[in-house]
Amino acid sequence: MEKRITGRTGMFCLIGTPVGHSGSPAMYNYSFAQTGLDYAYLAYDVPLEKTEEAVNALKVLGCKGFNVTMPCKTRVAELVDELSDAAKLIGACNTVVVKDGKLYGNNTDGMGFVRNLKENGVDVKGKKITVMGAGGAATAIQVQCALDGAKKLSIFNRKDEFYANGEKTVKKIQQMVPDCEVSIHPLEETDALYAAIKDSDILVNATKVGMKPLDDQSLVEDVSVFHPDLVVADAVYNPKETKFVQDAKAAGCKVAVGGIGMLLWQGAAAFKLFTGEDMPTDEVYELFFK
Ligand code: NAD
Repeated sequence: MEKRITGRTGMFCLIGTPVGHSGSPAMYNYSFAQTGLDYAYLAYDVPLEKTEEAVNALKVLGCKGFNVTMPCKTRVAELVDELSDAAKLIGACNTVVVKDGKLYGNNTDGMGFVRNLKENGVDVKGKKITVMGAGGAATAIQVQCALDGAKKLSIFNRKDEFYANGEKTVKKIQQMVPDCEVSIHPLEETDALYAAIKDSDILVNATKVGMKPLDDQSLVEDVSVFHPDLVVADAVYNPKETKFVQDAKAAGCKVAVGGIGMLLWQGAAAFKLFTGEDMPTDEVYELFFK
């Protein structure tokens, strides 16, 4: 690294808090080195109330782009000059490109989800999709699937503080992507959930259920609804294979994937936006995700 960094090295970074545990600096710095790019990536601990100051400082310092994690994602979406369609609909940015002093906000979480399915031979275009969840990951997945041509989206969430966000997402998708038929239902209505799953091509868990300490749980208790043609995808990546994914595999679903691929491909999408180059995803996966 000391040989790589010069007076001309361009800077990228992550802002949010906490960031100390983040794998992003290792992933991006490795990828810059592998692709021969004279860039470096750091992580800065930035609390919500310092977001604007931090963004202005990054502009002054000539930062070329930055990733954003909680709790700054929504605030950054208000501060940038332009938003991608996905970031506009989601109302949050996780990737900002700085060009000629202007900030371009994107959200690559949903892109990562869609790309991960594509890598597994599945296209969301024209598909009926049931998504459990109405938080950050779920919203990004729902919006990107709608933008990428999903025919029908059925959202299920328990009646908690996230339900209203799901209702907002439904309204925004109805306005911006009228060809996508979208609705939200309480997760507690199990019969409606199971009927939607039976009628779906793709079923997604984007809740925290399945993630430690809820790793012994799945929101689909009746495994007979997992039909063989159903594609099953989890946003949860810790553990790598959730009970939800294990149950789907055991029931014979043709594709059942965990969230690690989504994580890898959202980083690769940000790398492409930052540099115009492809991230060496095979090596990055082997080194940092396996
Ligand atoms: P969030 O806090 O924004 O949303 C939490 C969601 O989980 C809400 O829909 C909430 O209603 C639901 N939920 C929580 N506990 C529940 C329970 N007991 N029963 C039913 N529903 C419950 O969280 P988020 O950022 O959207 O993250 C959700 C999951 O997705 C996490 O496991 C996170 O690690 C994962 N994630 C993965 C990626 C990726 O790239 N693979 C990206 C972002 C998030």
